[in-house]
Amino acid sequence: MLSMEKKSICVIGGGIGGITTANKLLRYGYKVSLYEKNPYLGGLCSGYSVDGYHIDACFHWLMGAKKNTKIYKVWKDLGGLNNSVQIFHSGTFLTIDNNGEIIHLYADLDKSRDEWTKLSPNDEVNIRRFFGTVEKLKIFWDYSQTNKKKRRELLQLFSEISMKIKGVQGSRDDFSKCFGNETIRLAIRYGLTGYNNTLFFMIAYAAYSAGDSGVPFGGAEEIIKRVHDKLINLGCDIHLNEPVDEIVVADGKAVGIVSNGKFTQYDTIVSCVDPNFTIKELLKNKYKIKFFNKLKKNVKDNPVSSCFVTYLAANKKLLENIEVPTIINIDPINVGKKNMDAMLVRPYYFDPYFDKGKDSVVSLFFDQNQDDYNFYKKMSDAEYHKYKNNLIKESQKIFENRYPFLKGKTKVLTSFGPLELYKQTYTSFGAIQSYSFTEESGFKSFSGKSKAISNLYFATQWNKSVGGTPTAIQSGVKVAKKINRSYKNPIKRIAKKLSFKD
Ligand SMILES: Cc1cc2nc3c(=O)[nH]c(=O)nc-3n(C[C@H](O)[C@H](O)[C@H](O)COP(=O)(O)OP(=O)(O)OC[C@H]3O[C@@H](n4cnc5c(N)ncnc54)[C@H](O)[C@@H]3O)c2cc1C
Repeated sequence: MLSMEKKSICVIGGGIGGITTANKLLRYGYKVSLYEKNPYLGGLCSGYSVDGYHIDACFHWLMGAKKNTKIYKVWKDLGGLNNSVQIFHSGTFLTIDNNGEIIHLYADLDKSRDEWTKLSPNDEVNIRRFFGTVEKLKIFWDYSQTNKKKRRELLQLFSEISMKIKGVQGSRDDFSKCFGNETIRLAIRYGLTGYNNTLFFMIAYAAYSAGDSGVPFGGAEEIIKRVHDKLINLGCDIHLNEPVDEIVVADGKAVGIVSNGKFTQYDTIVSCVDPNFTIKELLKNKYKIKFFNKLKKNVKDNPVSSCFVTYLAANKKLLENIEVPTIINIDPINVGKKNMDAMLVRPYYFDPYFDKGKDSVVSLFFDQNQDDYNFYKKMSDAEYHKYKNNLIKESQKIFENRYPFLKGKTKVLTSFGPLELYKQTYTSFGAIQSYSFTEESGFKSFSGKSKAISNLYFATQWNKSVGGTPTAIQSGVKVAKKINRSYKNPIKRIAKKLSFKD
């Protein structure tokens, strides 16, 4: 606890980054105010009801599902996870259904390797390499999540290994060409929605195989309810429906914020809102943050990932015939700027939270990126409305044709794409996950501290490549620690800095 009068800290944005920052700072003993423009916390990590059905608009995979890992511990501190929260882990990361030729990305890597080899003996060498690498990453993942001391050492080893595997830092489209079999190619190309990067796909699969990712029962909605309650218990001053319009800066210091026309003074400010929005709207373009400016200008080499998703209701017993989740090949259709030849089908029958009478919910998911966002943005409202309705109908038709036992038996609940996601949280390009760095851009991350304004910090998924809730969480923890260090022993810190300069 601080001996001096409690410092007041303003956290802008109530997404997972903001929630984590606020939670951690409150535990350190600071006075924290959290401002969120929406009437609810969670940001992109949200769940809600439509027509009495439950929609989960976030968790495909929650990282940190395994107890004693570092991300689990933070989720526990946040209140999101606890011993009684069940996590769904079916043992299959993904089922690939290519016109009835079916393969799996099982958690059991040997089982998948054998299945793939039986299907395509000519690809055996590359199949062995692929699963061998995932196995190594799985071992690495286990170590790095539980063994604090070895983490740095292993990270070094990990980057050495990954650099040596040909194609692993490249796109999944390129990597898929190492295989002759079309179903295996589909598995590689769509193994992980969103990221067109082989390494991240393998890491996500390895984490699943290690038992560290799964789908929390009750989805994002229940998680957010619990983390919200925890913030209240910790004494957080929460301002819902209160968008921040400006961060006021004087003499190189952030002195406060303006919300709903009212100025409030704070000692430190943390923006947990999209950084491009923060720079342009909250700092009125008066300050530049090199890291984000560079990335925004070069988004082609650092693509973001978004999605176009349609949610349907259907009979739960019938949905149970579809494995969770399944990628199906489809006749190519345009979704925004993209020509898609596969659609991700994710039924929710495993969780009673999604039951409504005899029905459950299924989502139909297409990958999107910055180009798709720009494509939709050029449309008038009427044009977009028409385009979106057609896409919803098309998704439903594809689904019903693929699963004829559901023909005429599904009901459209809701749908969203990059434009709706932008409106929801001001996330750049309507992205659900941040820039995915490529070999050209390198794998750097942002420290979270603004150089131009000494007491302004950033804590969002955008601080690191790829993003997602684990990155938002890590950024929040890191920034809270930095702030605490800056107040706890500033003189020692400055002295340390000076001695390093020599
Ligand atoms: C469909 C979908 C599927 C996903 N699947 C997964 C998954 O399986 N696993 C995973 O880990 N992640 C997943 N994600 C991504 C994950 O939700 C995000 O990476 C994460 O929630 C981002 O958190 P954040 O705090 O950085 O940003 P955000 O959630 O964008 O939070 C920013 C917050 O700031 C608020 N805000 C904006 N402007 C202002 C203002 N002026 N004043 C006050 N508040 C403001 C916003 O309303 C928002 O609440 C998914 C997301 C979606 C939409």
